[in-house]
Amino acid sequence: MNTPDDRYSRQIRFAPIGEAGQANIHASHALIVGCGALGSSMANMLVRAGLGRLTLIDPDKVEWSNLQRQTLYDEDDARAGRLKVEAAGRRLAAINRDIQIEVKAEEVTAANIESLVGRPDVILDGTDRFPVRYLINDYAVREGLRWIYGGCAASHGTVLPIEPGRTPCLRCLFPDLPDPNQAATADTVGIIAPVAQIVAALQVAEAMKWLSGHAEVPRPVLYQVDLWSGNLQSLALKGSEANCPCCGQGRYDFLNEAQT
Ligand SMILES: [Zn+2]
Repeated sequence: MNTPDDRYSRQIRFAPIGEAGQANIHASHALIVGCGALGSSMANMLVRAGLGRLTLIDPDKVEWSNLQRQTLYDEDDARAGRLKVEAAGRRLAAINRDIQIEVKAEEVTAANIESLVGRPDVILDGTDRFPVRYLINDYAVREGLRWIYGGCAASHGTVLPIEPGRTPCLRCLFPDLPDPNQAATADTVGIIAPVAQIVAALQVAEAMKWLSGHAEVPRPVLYQVDLWSGNLQSLALKGSEANCPCCGQGRYDFLNEAQT
């Protein structure tokens, strides 16, 4: 037998997901901020997993320097200077036409985050801009939305799944916005494609636990990986920090910048 009905059979056969978990995944909505290397790989996996609805947000156009690691794009997209969300939306629809895909070619700002992001079941970090991540963290904590931080540059990466009230938020671990001149990004220190793949895979794995209905996982954890030295570790975390300016004290410094 080889029919479209068989599409999710191997995922359903995985016992922790099963038919019920697949139905939960199908009923869920994920939103990805940033459609670069992480966003491309996460969108690809989520659409194949049979998500109900996927929203992609990115204002940028495909460039030749993206093709080395941003797996949804090809030479034609770079030559045409196509919007990433447009190229990604077309490719993803060809992979799985059952998924409701929405694309927004906009930059997330403090002024528009509420209307642009709304209330998805999970927000996935595909941006490489720290101010946007701190903004997402403020918004997610304020609204009680789960989100998954993911970052990578050179050969190293970090993943932090955040469930407000249950796990530490981004500012519990990193209270201050990094100096933009010091923060390592693909533009400053380069990147090898495999590290983006492994970070995206960790993010999607954590998202699938939530979306399939396993509310008890992910446990509070920070993943760190350096593929060049061969180090992979998951650090068990305690709960949120009482003195965290965001989730501990309820100060949303990055969201509030919008009103000034
Ligand atoms: Zn916090």
